[in-house]
Amino acid sequence: MYATIKFRTRCLVLLVLFVSMLLMELQQQQTIARFEERNQQLEISLRQQREQFQEVSRLAEDQTRELWAEVERHQLDLVAVGRLLEQSRPLAPRRPLLAARSGRRQHLRQSFVELRRLVDRQQGELGRLSQAAQDLFQRSIPSGSPCAGEMTSGFGCRVHPIYGIGKFHQGCDFTAPYSTKIFATADGVVLRSDWLGGYGQVVELQHPSGLCTLYAHCEQLKVTKGQKVRKGDWIATVGQTGLASGPHCHYEVHRDGKQIDPTPFLAATVRGTASL
Ligand SMILES: [Zn+2]
Repeated sequence: MYATIKFRTRCLVLLVLFVSMLLMELQQQQTIARFEERNQQLEISLRQQREQFQEVSRLAEDQTRELWAEVERHQLDLVAVGRLLEQSRPLAPRRPLLAARSGRRQHLRQSFVELRRLVDRQQGELGRLSQAAQDLFQRSIPSGSPCAGEMTSGFGCRVHPIYGIGKFHQGCDFTAPYSTKIFATADGVVLRSDWLGGYGQVVELQHPSGLCTLYAHCEQLKVTKGQKVRKGDWIATVGQTGLASGPHCHYEVHRDGKQIDPTPFLAATVRGTASL
């Protein structure tokens, strides 16, 4: 009888040990699966960042090429004017008598002065055009933060503050008090200024660079659809509309209709917009 009880106890202990090992194995497999999933998400994020960097570089190269084409065109104009100027110089010594008799010398001097003025004007225009093209290019790409306030959540995987589950965050959050002013981060046109589901009150801007920016959970909207805005214009105020756990501005940058990481654009600065 005693032997039977002892045997059963041993069997029970072995069974418990076996089940414990099984559970530990299961837990380890789950942990490995979680690590692999996290690894995949990080790889996707890294790939997206690399693609964004390549796209921004390509855009900058295109704009620079156009700018140089414009500069070269004006340089050709200047060369043509310079040739004209050179051609007009030998006329005076070749025809001294004619120039002295008919006032030709005076006429040549006037031509020379006019040509010089033309050269100066062309050079001024060239400088102005180069500067304008550069300013236009810089102002059409989002740069800086949309509002004053601390960035409390970045682009990427995070635990959702309301749902409490892991969710990909499509933008950056700037926590700030109610009614803090929100500014356009680049020149553009208002695509929408209304309510958009969980985003609450939203302003979306289309920029000449092809990028779009979106400002969500706003309290008040200060612009209307179709309106043109300049970088630094006041477009909305910070609120907590839609799905939000507190007052903040959720800021997104879109390319080809997809959200991309706004972080590289936040770090960029543009001359004359230090107030942002
Ligand atoms: Zn957000």
